[in-house]
Amino acid sequence: MLKILDFFNYAQSESPWIVHFCSGCCSLEMAAATGPRYDWERYGYMQTPTPRQADVMIITGLVSKKILPALLRTFAQMPEPSYVLAIGACAYDGGPYNESVSVIKNMTEILPADAFVAGCPPKPEAIITGLDIIKEKMRKGEPSAASQGGLWKQMNF
Ligand code: SF4
Repeated sequence: MLKILDFFNYAQSESPWIVHFCSGCCSLEMAAATGPRYDWERYGYMQTPTPRQADVMIITGLVSKKILPALLRTFAQMPEPSYVLAIGACAYDGGPYNESVSVIKNMTEILPADAFVAGCPPKPEAIITGLDIIKEKMRKGEPSAASQGGLWKQMNF
């Protein structure tokens, strides 16, 4: 028998709202995923300007030390369960900016991601595939990686 919680998980997974927060040039591919060619709204994904109703945050590649507090503050305002998709080489280890002093190189250690999409930048269809992985986690009611740990919980932002 379908439990009420299963129903809520199913409903959330069929219409994940993605907070509109961009930090690196991967965000241009995220914009392409929303456009008429890939049109991620067909799959239920939608961007929202407020974190307070959002289910997913996408780390769009590069995160600088300057933008990190704003990113974490935005994520902290999202209601549980809130999931993270990391896209692009920069989100993993700084990518081409690995030697820059102003770039965060261990972003997924600070804010653990539920799925990672490789590329510089990844293609829009790859981003949608990464979101599908998160959709599956939501449907099963699995806890988000960021709720399980990560340095962000010990940081002041
Ligand atoms: S992975 Fe490439 S495209 Fe994405 S933010 Fe880094 S440099 Fe830009």
